[in-house]
Amino acid sequence: MGLRTAAQFKAGLRDGRVIYCKGERVEDVTTHHDLGIAVEHVALDFDLAEGPEHRELFSWEDPESGQRCSRYYKVPTCADDLLKRREMIERSTRLGGSVVLLIKEIGTDALFALDLVSQQVDQHCNTPYRDRVAAYHRHCKERDLTIAVAQTDVKGDRSLLPSQQEHPDYYVHIVEERPDGIVVRGAKAHTTCAPYVDEIIVLPTRAFGVEDGPFAVAFAVPVNTPGLKLIASPFGSPPPSQFHHPVSSRHRMVDTLTIFDDVFVPWERVFLKGETPFAGTLANTFVEFHRFTAVSYKPPLCDLLIGAAALMAEYNGIEKASHVREKLMKLIAYTETVRGLSRAAAYDCRLAANGTAVPNIVMTNLAKYHFANNYHQAVCWVQDIAGGLVVTGPAEEDLENPDTKGYIERLLGGKKGVSTRDRLRAFNLVRDLTASDFGGYNELLAIHAEGSLETQKITILRDFDLKRCKALAKEAIGAA
Ligand SMILES: Cc1cc2nc3c(=O)[nH]c(=O)nc-3n(C[C@H](O)[C@H](O)[C@H](O)COP(=O)(O)OP(=O)(O)OC[C@H]3O[C@@H](n4cnc5c(N)ncnc54)[C@H](O)[C@@H]3O)c2cc1C
Repeated sequence: MGLRTAAQFKAGLRDGRVIYCKGERVEDVTTHHDLGIAVEHVALDFDLAEGPEHRELFSWEDPESGQRCSRYYKVPTCADDLLKRREMIERSTRLGGSVVLLIKEIGTDALFALDLVSQQVDQHCNTPYRDRVAAYHRHCKERDLTIAVAQTDVKGDRSLLPSQQEHPDYYVHIVEERPDGIVVRGAKAHTTCAPYVDEIIVLPTRAFGVEDGPFAVAFAVPVNTPGLKLIASPFGSPPPSQFHHPVSSRHRMVDTLTIFDDVFVPWERVFLKGETPFAGTLANTFVEFHRFTAVSYKPPLCDLLIGAAALMAEYNGIEKASHVREKLMKLIAYTETVRGLSRAAAYDCRLAANGTAVPNIVMTNLAKYHFANNYHQAVCWVQDIAGGLVVTGPAEEDLENPDTKGYIERLLGGKKGVSTRDRLRAFNLVRDLTASDFGGYNELLAIHAEGSLETQKITILRDFDLKRCKALAKEAIGAA
Protein backbone atom coordinates (compact mmCIF):
# COMPACT_ATOMS: atom_id res chain seq x y z
CA MET A 1 0.00 0.00 0.00
CA GLY A 2 2.75 2.53 0.91
CA LEU A 3 0.75 5.68 1.47
CA ARG A 4 -2.87 5.99 2.60
CA THR A 5 -5.30 8.84 2.01
CA ALA A 6 -6.92 10.75 4.88
CA ALA A 7 -10.21 8.99 4.04
CA GLN A 8 -8.57 5.55 4.29
CA PHE A 9 -7.00 6.54 7.60
CA LYS A 10 -10.37 7.62 9.01
CA ALA A 11 -12.10 4.46 7.76
CA GLY A 12 -9.47 2.40 9.62
CA LEU A 13 -10.47 4.05 12.91
CA ARG A 14 -13.99 2.59 12.74
CA ASP A 15 -12.93 -0.76 14.17
CA GLY A 16 -14.89 -1.29 17.40
CA ARG A 17 -12.25 0.30 19.65
CA VAL A 18 -13.33 1.03 23.21
CA ILE A 19 -13.13 4.75 24.05
CA TYR A 20 -14.95 6.66 26.75
CA CYS A 21 -15.32 10.44 26.76
CA LYS A 22 -17.11 12.40 29.50
CA GLY A 23 -19.03 9.40 30.78
CA GLU A 24 -20.12 8.04 27.44
CA ARG A 25 -18.88 5.32 25.09
CA VAL A 26 -17.65 6.83 21.81
CA GLU A 27 -19.28 4.99 18.91
CA ASP A 28 -17.28 6.55 16.08
CA VAL A 29 -14.25 8.66 16.92
CA THR A 30 -14.15 10.23 13.45
CA THR A 31 -17.60 11.83 13.79
CA HIS A 32 -17.55 12.46 17.55
CA HIS A 33 -18.34 16.14 18.23
CA ASP A 34 -15.29 16.47 20.49
CA LEU A 35 -12.64 13.91 19.49
CA GLY A 36 -13.49 14.32 15.80
CA ILE A 37 -11.72 17.71 15.86
CA ALA A 38 -8.47 15.94 16.73
CA VAL A 39 -9.05 13.37 13.96
CA GLU A 40 -9.46 16.16 11.38
CA HIS A 41 -6.36 17.85 12.78
CA VAL A 42 -4.09 14.81 12.37
CA ALA A 43 -5.54 13.84 8.97
CA LEU A 44 -3.29 16.65 7.69
CA ASP A 45 -0.41 14.16 7.84
CA PHE A 46 -1.90 12.19 4.93
CA ASP A 47 -2.70 15.31 2.89
CA LEU A 48 0.90 16.49 3.22
CA ALA A 49 2.32 13.20 1.95
CA GLU A 50 -0.05 13.28 -1.03
CA GLY A 51 -0.08 16.93 -2.10
CA PRO A 52 2.50 18.14 -4.66
CA GLU A 53 3.83 20.97 -2.47
CA HIS A 54 4.97 18.83 0.46
CA ARG A 55 5.13 15.32 -1.00
CA GLU A 56 8.88 15.36 -1.55
CA LEU A 57 9.57 16.05 2.11
CA PHE A 58 6.83 13.95 3.68
CA SER A 59 7.32 10.75 1.67
CA TRP A 60 10.24 8.75 0.34
CA GLU A 61 10.99 5.85 -2.04
CA ASP A 62 11.52 2.91 0.28
CA PRO A 63 14.06 0.54 -1.33
CA GLU A 64 12.96 -2.36 0.87
CA SER A 65 9.32 -2.41 -0.26
CA GLY A 66 9.73 -0.58 -3.57
CA GLN A 67 6.86 1.67 -2.45
CA ARG A 68 6.58 5.36 -1.71
CA CYS A 69 6.16 5.49 2.08
CA SER A 70 5.82 8.10 4.79
CA ARG A 71 9.25 9.56 5.50
CA TYR A 72 8.61 9.19 9.22
CA TYR A 73 9.36 5.48 8.77
CA LYS A 74 12.82 6.13 7.31
CA VAL A 75 15.45 5.20 9.88
CA PRO A 76 17.83 8.19 10.11
CA THR A 77 21.39 7.29 9.18
CA CYS A 78 22.93 10.77 8.86
CA ALA A 79 22.47 14.41 9.85
CA ASP A 80 20.50 15.15 6.68
CA ASP A 81 17.89 12.48 7.57
CA LEU A 82 17.47 14.06 11.00
CA LEU A 83 17.23 17.55 9.52
CA LYS A 84 14.50 16.39 7.13
CA ARG A 85 12.67 14.67 10.00
CA ARG A 86 12.94 17.85 12.04
CA GLU A 87 11.67 19.95 9.13
CA MET A 88 8.68 17.60 8.59
CA ILE A 89 7.73 17.93 12.25
CA GLU A 90 8.16 21.70 12.32
CA ARG A 91 6.30 22.24 9.05
CA SER A 92 3.34 19.98 9.84
CA THR A 93 3.02 21.60 13.28
CA ARG A 94 3.03 25.07 11.71
CA LEU A 95 0.40 24.01 9.17
CA GLY A 96 -1.54 22.42 12.03
CA GLY A 97 -1.95 25.76 13.77
CA SER A 98 1.03 25.19 16.13
CA VAL A 99 -0.30 21.83 17.40
CA VAL A 100 1.89 18.82 16.66
CA LEU A 101 0.21 15.92 14.82
CA LEU A 102 2.17 13.14 16.60
CA ILE A 103 0.54 10.17 14.87
CA LYS A 104 3.77 8.90 13.31
CA GLU A 105 6.48 10.99 14.98
CA ILE A 106 6.31 9.39 18.43
CA GLY A 107 5.69 5.87 17.12
CA THR A 108 8.75 5.93 14.90
CA ASP A 109 10.81 7.38 17.78
CA ALA A 110 9.84 4.20 19.63
CA LEU A 111 10.64 1.97 16.63
CA PHE A 112 14.14 3.48 16.30
CA ALA A 113 14.76 2.95 20.03
CA LEU A 114 13.40 -0.60 19.95
CA ASP A 115 15.68 -1.52 17.05
CA LEU A 116 18.73 -0.15 18.84
CA VAL A 117 18.01 -1.73 22.21
CA SER A 118 16.67 -5.07 20.93
CA GLN A 119 20.05 -5.61 19.24
CA GLN A 120 21.72 -5.28 22.67
CA VAL A 121 19.12 -7.49 24.42
CA ASP A 122 19.46 -10.20 21.76
CA GLN A 123 23.26 -10.19 22.12
CA HIS A 124 23.13 -10.52 25.92
CA CYS A 125 20.06 -12.71 26.39
CA ASN A 126 19.84 -14.68 23.15
CA THR A 127 16.32 -13.34 22.48
CA PRO A 128 14.60 -12.90 19.06
CA TYR A 129 13.46 -9.32 19.55
CA ARG A 130 15.30 -7.49 16.79
CA ASP A 131 13.70 -9.55 14.02
CA ARG A 132 10.28 -9.01 15.59
CA VAL A 133 10.87 -5.25 15.78
CA ALA A 134 11.99 -5.19 12.13
CA ALA A 135 8.89 -7.15 11.02
CA TYR A 136 6.64 -4.82 13.01
CA HIS A 137 8.39 -1.74 11.56
CA ARG A 138 7.76 -3.13 8.03
CA HIS A 139 4.14 -3.88 8.90
CA CYS A 140 3.48 -0.29 10.01
CA LYS A 141 5.50 1.34 7.23
CA GLU A 142 3.92 -0.61 4.37
CA ARG A 143 0.37 -0.03 5.69
CA ASP A 144 1.09 3.64 6.54
CA LEU A 145 -0.16 3.06 10.08
CA THR A 146 -0.40 5.61 12.84
CA ILE A 147 1.02 4.88 16.30
CA ALA A 148 0.73 6.27 19.84
CA VAL A 149 3.27 5.46 22.54
CA ALA A 150 2.19 4.55 26.06
CA GLN A 151 5.31 4.84 28.17
CA THR A 152 4.28 6.74 31.32
CA ASP A 153 2.67 4.39 33.83
CA VAL A 154 0.19 5.74 36.36
CA LYS A 155 3.00 5.01 38.88
CA GLY A 156 1.23 5.29 42.27
CA ASP A 157 3.82 6.23 44.92
CA ARG A 158 6.70 7.72 42.95
CA SER A 159 9.28 6.76 45.59
CA LEU A 160 8.59 3.02 45.20
CA LEU A 161 9.57 0.49 42.53
CA PRO A 162 6.67 -1.31 40.77
CA SER A 163 7.02 -4.47 42.85
CA GLN A 164 6.90 -2.40 46.07
CA GLN A 165 3.64 -0.61 45.20
CA GLU A 166 0.45 -1.23 47.16
CA HIS A 167 -1.34 -1.91 43.87
CA PRO A 168 0.45 -4.01 41.18
CA ASP A 169 -1.56 -2.34 38.41
CA TYR A 170 0.17 1.02 38.90
CA TYR A 171 2.66 -0.25 36.31
CA VAL A 172 1.72 -2.36 33.29
CA HIS A 173 2.89 -5.93 33.90
CA ILE A 174 2.64 -9.49 32.65
CA VAL A 175 0.04 -11.60 34.46
CA GLU A 176 0.16 -14.74 32.32
CA GLU A 177 2.41 -16.45 29.82
CA ARG A 178 0.73 -18.66 27.22
CA PRO A 179 2.18 -20.80 24.40
CA ASP A 180 1.14 -18.10 21.91
CA GLY A 181 1.96 -14.91 23.87
CA ILE A 182 1.50 -12.93 27.08
CA VAL A 183 -1.39 -11.32 28.93
CA VAL A 184 -0.79 -7.83 30.38
CA ARG A 185 -2.61 -5.76 32.98
CA GLY A 186 -2.26 -2.22 34.37
CA ALA A 187 -2.55 1.32 33.08
CA LYS A 188 -0.58 4.06 31.37
CA ALA A 189 -1.43 7.75 31.70
CA HIS A 190 -1.39 10.67 29.24
CA THR A 191 -1.27 8.59 26.03
CA THR A 192 -1.48 11.32 23.38
CA CYS A 193 -3.50 10.57 20.22
CA ALA A 194 -4.46 7.06 21.42
CA PRO A 195 -8.17 7.35 20.42
CA TYR A 196 -7.34 8.02 16.76
CA VAL A 197 -4.31 5.93 15.86
CA ASP A 198 -4.08 2.37 14.58
CA GLU A 199 -1.52 1.00 17.02
CA ILE A 200 -0.11 1.57 20.50
CA ILE A 201 3.50 0.78 21.37
CA VAL A 202 4.04 0.16 25.08
CA LEU A 203 7.45 0.85 26.61
CA PRO A 204 8.80 0.74 30.17
CA THR A 205 8.84 4.14 31.82
CA ARG A 206 11.96 3.81 33.99
CA ALA A 207 14.79 1.55 35.17
CA PHE A 208 13.64 -1.40 37.27
CA GLY A 209 15.14 -3.64 39.92
CA VAL A 210 15.70 -7.39 39.39
CA GLU A 211 12.53 -8.11 41.38
CA ASP A 212 10.47 -6.10 38.84
CA GLY A 213 10.69 -8.72 36.05
CA PRO A 214 6.97 -8.80 35.12
CA PHE A 215 7.00 -5.00 34.72
CA ALA A 216 9.92 -4.96 32.28
CA VAL A 217 7.76 -5.37 29.21
CA ALA A 218 7.55 -3.75 25.77
CA PHE A 219 5.02 -4.65 23.09
CA ALA A 220 2.62 -3.31 20.45
CA VAL A 221 -1.11 -3.85 19.98
CA PRO A 222 -3.80 -2.52 17.63
CA VAL A 223 -6.09 -0.07 19.45
CA ASN A 224 -9.13 -2.34 19.01
CA THR A 225 -7.48 -5.26 20.86
CA PRO A 226 -9.92 -6.83 23.36
CA GLY A 227 -9.34 -5.57 26.91
CA LEU A 228 -7.75 -2.29 25.81
CA LYS A 229 -9.85 0.63 27.08
CA LEU A 230 -9.24 4.34 26.65
CA ILE A 231 -10.67 7.09 28.83
CA ALA A 232 -10.17 10.41 27.01
CA SER A 233 -9.27 13.53 28.96
CA PRO A 234 -11.98 16.24 28.74
CA PHE A 235 -9.33 18.98 28.80
CA GLY A 236 -9.75 21.39 25.90
CA SER A 237 -13.18 20.09 24.95
CA PRO A 238 -14.55 21.78 21.85
CA PRO A 239 -14.53 25.52 22.44
CA PRO A 240 -17.57 27.40 21.17
CA SER A 241 -16.33 29.35 18.17
CA GLN A 242 -13.46 30.16 15.87
CA PHE A 243 -13.83 33.80 16.88
CA HIS A 244 -13.16 33.05 20.54
CA HIS A 245 -10.71 30.20 20.00
CA PRO A 246 -9.05 30.69 16.61
CA VAL A 247 -6.56 27.84 17.10
CA SER A 248 -8.08 25.32 19.49
CA SER A 249 -11.49 25.23 17.77
CA ARG A 250 -9.74 23.48 14.87
CA HIS A 251 -6.55 21.97 16.28
CA ARG A 252 -6.16 19.85 19.36
CA MET A 253 -4.66 16.73 20.86
CA VAL A 254 -6.44 14.20 23.04
CA ASP A 255 -4.71 12.18 25.75
CA THR A 256 -6.03 9.08 27.48
CA LEU A 257 -5.83 6.94 30.54
CA THR A 258 -4.94 3.72 28.73
CA ILE A 259 -6.18 0.63 30.54
CA PHE A 260 -4.90 -2.87 29.87
CA ASP A 261 -7.58 -5.12 31.31
CA ASP A 262 -5.94 -8.49 30.62
CA VAL A 263 -4.83 -7.76 27.08
CA PHE A 264 -3.39 -10.64 25.07
CA VAL A 265 -0.23 -9.88 23.07
CA PRO A 266 1.05 -12.50 20.59
CA TRP A 267 4.76 -13.33 20.74
CA GLU A 268 5.57 -11.56 17.47
CA ARG A 269 4.46 -8.29 19.11
CA VAL A 270 6.49 -8.73 22.33
CA PHE A 271 9.79 -6.79 22.31
CA LEU A 272 10.94 -7.08 25.95
CA LYS A 273 9.81 -9.61 28.56
CA GLY A 274 11.52 -9.60 31.92
CA GLU A 275 15.03 -8.50 30.83
CA THR A 276 15.06 -5.92 33.64
CA PRO A 277 18.54 -4.42 33.05
CA PHE A 278 17.34 -3.23 29.63
CA ALA A 279 14.10 -1.57 30.78
CA GLY A 280 15.91 1.64 31.75
CA THR A 281 18.05 1.51 28.59
CA LEU A 282 14.92 1.28 26.45
CA ALA A 283 13.15 4.05 28.36
CA ASN A 284 16.14 6.37 27.95
CA THR A 285 16.83 5.47 24.31
CA PHE A 286 13.22 6.25 23.36
CA VAL A 287 13.54 9.61 25.07
CA GLU A 288 16.74 10.38 23.11
CA PHE A 289 14.69 10.27 19.91
CA HIS A 290 11.47 11.61 21.35
CA ARG A 291 12.94 14.78 22.88
CA PHE A 292 14.37 15.59 19.45
CA THR A 293 10.80 15.32 18.10
CA ALA A 294 9.71 17.57 20.97
CA VAL A 295 12.20 20.33 20.25
CA SER A 296 11.32 20.13 16.55
CA TYR A 297 7.62 20.81 17.19
CA LYS A 298 8.03 23.57 19.81
CA PRO A 299 9.15 26.49 17.56
CA PRO A 300 5.84 26.95 15.64
CA LEU A 301 3.97 27.66 18.89
CA CYS A 302 6.71 30.11 19.90
CA ASP A 303 6.50 31.78 16.46
CA LEU A 304 2.76 32.20 16.93
CA LEU A 305 3.30 33.74 20.37
CA ILE A 306 5.80 36.22 18.87
CA GLY A 307 3.37 37.04 16.06
CA ALA A 308 0.43 37.51 18.45
CA ALA A 309 2.50 39.80 20.69
CA ALA A 310 3.77 41.86 17.74
CA LEU A 311 0.27 42.19 16.30
CA MET A 312 -1.18 43.27 19.63
CA ALA A 313 1.59 45.83 20.04
CA GLU A 314 0.79 47.25 16.61
CA TYR A 315 -3.00 47.25 17.12
CA ASN A 316 -2.57 49.02 20.48
CA GLY A 317 -0.04 51.55 19.14
CA ILE A 318 2.81 50.51 21.45
CA GLU A 319 5.05 48.81 18.89
CA LYS A 320 7.78 51.47 19.26
CA ALA A 321 7.85 51.45 23.09
CA SER A 322 11.28 50.34 24.29
CA HIS A 323 9.98 47.80 26.83
CA VAL A 324 7.80 46.22 24.13
CA ARG A 325 10.71 45.95 21.72
CA GLU A 326 12.80 44.41 24.46
CA LYS A 327 10.12 41.81 25.24
CA LEU A 328 9.75 40.97 21.56
CA MET A 329 13.52 40.58 21.29
CA LYS A 330 13.51 38.23 24.29
CA LEU A 331 10.69 36.18 22.74
CA ILE A 332 12.72 35.90 19.54
CA ALA A 333 15.87 34.91 21.44
CA TYR A 334 13.87 32.29 23.37
CA THR A 335 12.42 30.79 20.19
CA GLU A 336 15.53 30.86 18.05
CA THR A 337 17.58 29.25 20.84
CA VAL A 338 15.21 26.26 20.80
CA ARG A 339 15.23 26.14 16.99
CA GLY A 340 19.00 26.55 16.73
CA LEU A 341 19.74 23.89 19.35
CA SER A 342 17.39 21.42 17.70
CA ARG A 343 19.19 21.92 14.37
CA ALA A 344 22.55 21.63 16.10
CA ALA A 345 21.39 18.33 17.65
CA ALA A 346 20.82 16.97 14.15
CA TYR A 347 24.14 18.23 12.74
CA ASP A 348 26.01 16.92 15.77
CA CYS A 349 24.41 13.46 15.77
CA ARG A 350 26.27 10.24 16.53
CA LEU A 351 26.03 6.92 14.71
CA ALA A 352 24.89 4.07 16.97
CA ALA A 353 26.13 0.47 16.61
CA ASN A 354 23.19 -0.42 14.33
CA GLY A 355 23.91 2.56 12.01
CA THR A 356 21.07 4.77 13.27
CA ALA A 357 21.83 8.48 13.60
CA VAL A 358 21.00 9.57 17.16
CA PRO A 359 20.50 13.32 17.73
CA ASN A 360 23.06 14.92 20.05
CA ILE A 361 21.74 14.25 23.53
CA VAL A 362 23.11 17.33 25.32
CA MET A 363 21.86 19.74 22.60
CA THR A 364 18.45 18.07 22.51
CA ASN A 365 18.00 18.18 26.25
CA LEU A 366 19.30 21.75 26.48
CA ALA A 367 16.72 22.78 23.87
CA LYS A 368 13.92 20.99 25.74
CA TYR A 369 15.04 22.38 29.11
CA HIS A 370 15.38 25.91 27.76
CA PHE A 371 11.92 25.70 26.19
CA ALA A 372 10.19 24.25 29.25
CA ASN A 373 11.96 26.29 31.89
CA ASN A 374 11.18 29.61 30.17
CA TYR A 375 7.74 28.92 28.67
CA HIS A 376 5.73 30.57 31.44
CA GLN A 377 8.02 33.62 31.24
CA ALA A 378 7.40 33.80 27.48
CA VAL A 379 3.64 33.67 28.09
CA CYS A 380 4.04 36.46 30.65
CA TRP A 381 5.71 38.73 28.07
CA VAL A 382 2.93 38.10 25.55
CA GLN A 383 0.17 38.75 28.10
CA ASP A 384 1.95 41.87 29.32
CA ILE A 385 2.08 43.33 25.80
CA ALA A 386 -1.52 42.37 25.00
CA GLY A 387 -3.34 43.84 28.02
CA GLY A 388 -6.34 42.82 30.10
CA LEU A 389 -8.92 42.62 27.31
CA VAL A 390 -7.44 39.18 26.66
CA VAL A 391 -9.79 37.93 29.37
CA THR A 392 -12.34 40.73 29.76
CA GLY A 393 -13.42 41.40 26.15
CA PRO A 394 -17.01 41.02 24.91
CA ALA A 395 -18.43 37.89 23.29
CA GLU A 396 -18.93 37.28 19.59
CA GLU A 397 -22.70 37.35 20.23
CA ASP A 398 -22.40 40.93 21.58
CA LEU A 399 -20.67 41.94 18.38
CA GLU A 400 -23.65 40.57 16.44
CA ASN A 401 -26.36 42.05 18.70
CA PRO A 402 -27.61 45.38 17.18
CA ASP A 403 -28.09 46.79 20.71
CA THR A 404 -24.38 46.38 21.61
CA LYS A 405 -22.51 46.11 18.29
CA GLY A 406 -22.18 49.88 17.80
CA TYR A 407 -20.82 50.47 21.30
CA ILE A 408 -18.22 47.77 20.95
CA GLU A 409 -17.05 48.85 17.51
CA ARG A 410 -16.72 52.47 18.59
CA LEU A 411 -15.34 52.02 22.09
CA LEU A 412 -12.95 49.13 21.66
CA GLY A 413 -10.99 50.47 18.70
CA GLY A 414 -7.21 50.68 18.93
CA LYS A 415 -4.73 52.28 16.57
CA LYS A 416 -6.31 54.30 13.74
CA GLY A 417 -7.03 52.15 10.70
CA VAL A 418 -7.26 48.86 12.62
CA SER A 419 -10.75 47.33 12.63
CA THR A 420 -12.16 46.70 16.09
CA ARG A 421 -13.15 43.19 15.03
CA ASP A 422 -9.54 42.36 14.06
CA ARG A 423 -8.28 43.83 17.31
CA LEU A 424 -10.73 41.65 19.26
CA ARG A 425 -9.68 38.64 17.20
CA ALA A 426 -6.06 39.31 18.14
CA PHE A 427 -7.00 39.46 21.84
CA ASN A 428 -8.80 36.16 21.40
CA LEU A 429 -5.73 34.61 19.80
CA VAL A 430 -3.67 35.56 22.85
CA ARG A 431 -6.42 34.22 25.13
CA ASP A 432 -6.64 30.97 23.19
CA LEU A 433 -2.87 30.48 23.29
CA THR A 434 -2.26 31.56 26.88
CA ALA A 435 -5.38 31.99 29.03
CA SER A 436 -7.82 29.27 27.96
CA ASP A 437 -8.13 25.54 28.56
CA PHE A 438 -5.84 25.16 25.56
CA GLY A 439 -3.40 27.73 26.97
CA GLY A 440 -3.25 25.85 30.26
CA TYR A 441 -2.80 22.59 28.39
CA ASN A 442 0.17 24.12 26.54
CA GLU A 443 1.73 25.18 29.85
CA LEU A 444 1.46 21.68 31.30
CA LEU A 445 2.64 20.19 28.02
CA ALA A 446 5.70 22.45 28.14
CA ILE A 447 6.63 21.35 31.66
CA HIS A 448 5.82 17.64 31.64
CA ALA A 449 5.46 16.20 28.14
CA GLU A 450 8.58 14.31 27.00
CA GLY A 451 9.67 14.19 30.66
CA SER A 452 9.61 16.79 33.39
CA LEU A 453 12.41 19.34 33.94
CA GLU A 454 14.47 17.23 36.32
CA THR A 455 14.85 14.46 33.74
CA GLN A 456 16.47 16.88 31.32
CA LYS A 457 18.89 18.14 33.99
CA ILE A 458 19.88 14.58 34.89
CA THR A 459 20.43 13.73 31.22
CA ILE A 460 22.51 16.84 30.52
CA LEU A 461 24.75 16.16 33.50
CA ARG A 462 25.05 12.48 32.59
CA ASP A 463 25.98 13.05 28.96
CA PHE A 464 28.07 16.22 29.09
CA ASP A 465 31.82 15.52 28.97
CA LEU A 466 32.72 16.86 32.42
CA LYS A 467 36.03 14.95 32.37
CA ARG A 468 37.22 17.05 29.45
CA CYS A 469 36.51 20.28 31.31
CA LYS A 470 38.07 19.02 34.53
CA ALA A 471 41.19 18.08 32.58
CA LEU A 472 41.35 21.65 31.24
CA ALA A 473 41.02 23.04 34.76
CA LYS A 474 43.77 20.73 36.01
CA GLU A 475 45.99 21.75 33.14
CA ALA A 476 45.33 25.42 33.96
CA ILE A 477 46.48 25.00 37.57
CA GLY A 478 49.26 22.60 36.69
CA ALA A 479 47.76 19.78 38.81
CA ALA A 480 48.82 16.15 38.29
C1 LIG B 1 0.24 16.95 27.47
C2 LIG B 1 1.03 15.73 27.79
C3 LIG B 1 1.19 14.74 26.84
C4 LIG B 1 1.90 13.57 27.15
N1 LIG B 1 1.99 12.57 26.22
C5 LIG B 1 2.53 11.38 26.57
C6 LIG B 1 2.49 10.27 25.67
O1 LIG B 1 2.01 10.38 24.54
N2 LIG B 1 2.98 9.08 26.09
C7 LIG B 1 3.52 8.91 27.33
O2 LIG B 1 3.95 7.80 27.64
N3 LIG B 1 3.59 9.95 28.19
C8 LIG B 1 3.10 11.17 27.85
N4 LIG B 1 3.14 12.22 28.72
C9 LIG B 1 3.68 11.97 30.04
C10 LIG B 1 4.91 12.74 30.44
O3 LIG B 1 6.08 12.16 29.94
C11 LIG B 1 4.86 12.78 31.98
O4 LIG B 1 3.83 13.70 32.33
C12 LIG B 1 6.14 13.15 32.63
O5 LIG B 1 7.09 12.15 32.43
C13 LIG B 1 5.92 13.36 34.13
O6 LIG B 1 5.29 12.23 34.70
P1 LIG B 1 3.98 12.43 35.59
O7 LIG B 1 3.01 13.23 34.84
O8 LIG B 1 3.58 11.10 36.08
O9 LIG B 1 4.46 13.32 36.78
P2 LIG B 1 5.33 12.88 38.01
O10 LIG B 1 6.30 11.81 37.63
O11 LIG B 1 4.44 12.62 39.15
O12 LIG B 1 6.18 14.20 38.26
C14 LIG B 1 5.75 15.26 39.13
C15 LIG B 1 6.98 15.73 39.93
O13 LIG B 1 7.44 14.65 40.70
C16 LIG B 1 8.85 14.50 40.51
N5 LIG B 1 9.16 13.08 40.70
C17 LIG B 1 8.57 12.00 40.12
N6 LIG B 1 9.13 10.86 40.55
C18 LIG B 1 10.10 11.22 41.43
C19 LIG B 1 11.04 10.49 42.22
N7 LIG B 1 11.09 9.16 42.20
N8 LIG B 1 11.89 11.20 42.98
C20 LIG B 1 11.87 12.56 43.02
N9 LIG B 1 10.99 13.30 42.29
C21 LIG B 1 10.12 12.64 41.52
C22 LIG B 1 9.09 14.98 39.06
O14 LIG B 1 10.45 15.35 38.85
C23 LIG B 1 8.14 16.17 39.02
O15 LIG B 1 8.77 17.30 39.59
C24 LIG B 1 2.47 13.42 28.43
C25 LIG B 1 2.33 14.43 29.37
C26 LIG B 1 1.63 15.58 29.08
C27 LIG B 1 1.48 16.64 30.14
